[in-house]
Amino acid sequence: MNEIEKKIKDLRASLRYHSDRYYNDDAPEIEDYEYDMMMRELIALEEKYPEYDAVDSPTKKVGGKADNSFESVVHTVRMESLQDAFSKDEIREFDRRVNETVSNRHYVVEPKIDGLSVSLEYRDGVFVRGSTRGDGDVGEDVSGNLRVIHNIPLKLTRPIPYIEVRGEVYMPKKSFEKVVDRQLLNGEKPFKNPRNAAAGSLRQKDSAIAAGRGLDIFVFNIQRIEGENLTSHKASLDYLKELGFNTVPFYKRVDNIDDAIVEIDRIGEERGTLEFDIDGAVIKVDEFSNREILGSTSKYPKWAVAFKYPPEEKQTKLLDIEIAVGRTGVLTPTAILESVHLAGTTVSRATLHNQDFIKEKGIAIGDIVTVRKAGDIIPEVLCVNEHNSDSVYIFPTRCPSCNEPVIREKDEAAIRCINPECPAQLLRNLIHFCSRDAMDIEGLGPAIIENFVDKGLIKNTFDIYNLDYDKIAGLDGFKETSANNIRKSVENSKSNDLSRLIFALGIRHIGAKAGKLLADHFRDMDAVMSASAEDILAIEGYGQIMADSVVSYFATDSAKELIEKLKTAGVNMKSTSQVKDERFSGMTFVLTGTLPTLKRSEASKIIESYGGKTSSSVSKKTTYVLAGEEAGSKLDKANQLGIDILNEEQFLEMTK
Ligand code: NAD
Repeated sequence: MNEIEKKIKDLRASLRYHSDRYYNDDAPEIEDYEYDMMMRELIALEEKYPEYDAVDSPTKKVGGKADNSFESVVHTVRMESLQDAFSKDEIREFDRRVNETVSNRHYVVEPKIDGLSVSLEYRDGVFVRGSTRGDGDVGEDVSGNLRVIHNIPLKLTRPIPYIEVRGEVYMPKKSFEKVVDRQLLNGEKPFKNPRNAAAGSLRQKDSAIAAGRGLDIFVFNIQRIEGENLTSHKASLDYLKELGFNTVPFYKRVDNIDDAIVEIDRIGEERGTLEFDIDGAVIKVDEFSNREILGSTSKYPKWAVAFKYPPEEKQTKLLDIEIAVGRTGVLTPTAILESVHLAGTTVSRATLHNQDFIKEKGIAIGDIVTVRKAGDIIPEVLCVNEHNSDSVYIFPTRCPSCNEPVIREKDEAAIRCINPECPAQLLRNLIHFCSRDAMDIEGLGPAIIENFVDKGLIKNTFDIYNLDYDKIAGLDGFKETSANNIRKSVENSKSNDLSRLIFALGIRHIGAKAGKLLADHFRDMDAVMSASAEDILAIEGYGQIMADSVVSYFATDSAKELIEKLKTAGVNMKSTSQVKDERFSGMTFVLTGTLPTLKRSEASKIIESYGGKTSSSVSKKTTYVLAGEEAGSKLDKANQLGIDILNEEQFLEMTK
């Protein structure tokens, strides 16, 4: 394979991989811009070297697929993608191609909403089905999840015989913040951006989850209609509005490409202030008759182009570095900048990622740095342009919130505060502590804990065992009975097994199962707390990272203090589970002769209860022969094979 062929193959594999992460896992690993640039490189290579063209290349396919957890929907009108443009020259090039084929065309310019495409079908004005785009030909039936979106009308203002419309389901920025907040509180992996959050929510099996995510929709096209004759895009958007749809906002019809570009710039300037993410602006030929003449490729219509706002970069001065402690304890550095205008917004803060990034780029306060903002992602510092001092910023070694020392785990870039009582992490820790698999305190769910923290009733984990129930009974939405119910669950939790308490502490890498292993092994909290990493490593299922995590957790003063207080409150510190004693595991015993006190059946039971086996004949596999009086040939054979022989006394000694 030559170099070009290899490059093409690699690009295709890479695009397929990222497309899968993006469409099917809703968890992209690279920025859209990076993906788009790779796609462009592949398109250019395929054009230059048509001998390596392939029908299944990502350049010819609409991304996404329908998985089999939903019913399939075959789209009678293909749900196409859009060709993209990253410069004004490319927009003019699009205009030139259009003008070559049609004359007298108008354009409509509208924002390109960053969500996911859906089709909605109505019969006699009633919503009958809704589906995702999938690969453009076959999508997934997600009607249940679409029905719960407030802005999707279930009944139109007119009972037209049939209409299929296309729109973009998106998650408003405010809903996204709430969803991510909730995910972080529950210890779940948060969605990366509103688009992934919208896609992930729309593919939930349980419509109640989708309903709680605050999704919305903008409708931007009529795919098919019966009973109405529309001749242009602008007219159809106006008509969709009349039917009760929430159409794509501020769409504008213009006469020529210059005016379209003015409109693109205007939308670009506004995008920072919008309540939803947009990833570009779309220019569409307005007249349907012209669209028909222009036609489509296998992937997109030739009558439309998406202008994608390229990432913007500017230089500015780094005024300060602020360190915030997230709810998972990670210390994140934020650059405080001299304000610059970037991608339609004023930027005065940008991410500096982590300690390694700062060190690698040699960043210091006072430096002139380059800041980048791509679409709606958080602005980031890219590099230093001018150093204004010889020093590099030194990352704090203590948590700015609680002043406890911070740690950095092996193979992790993040610096973390692991103090269980750190105020910055309190809410998350409390929710985990009370959750079902941890201390299982019914009545202390996330919302109530948040409420109690806001009211100052809980200031640290220990306060759960120190609640003022009279005050609670007097709170809005509470009565004496509800306060009493909480009291009961809190009291009950005191007798939980040690394994639950260990898990509830939220030690990194120590889940419910690891908590149980620790409790079963050491049996009591004091022993766990004084165990060394080597002691812990003796437990099967424990590795170095887990053992180190337990040791560093209990090394903090705040952990020691918390345990002491919990002990005083009467929280159980012992393992109550019966551990099976497997001391004879893997051993085979043969019984022979009459034992002085035990019957043979009793001896067999003891052996089996300790995990051993009994056999009736002696072989090389026999571990011990338990011999009494008048033992016969079995004893002789054992002697021949050199197998250990026990009398009853020795046997009973082994069971102690
Ligand atoms: P696209 O997002 O570039 O454009 C087509 C889509 O735009 C349509 O499906 C439609 O749903 C939507 N749209 C929003 N507003 C619209 C409007 N007013 N009019 C018409 N359409 C509108 O193309 P695509 O095929 O959906 O997705 C490809 C893009 O997805 C890539 O360009 C890339 O940016 C992103 N992607 C990113 C990754 C990654 O790893 N980051 C991977 C795969 C794809």
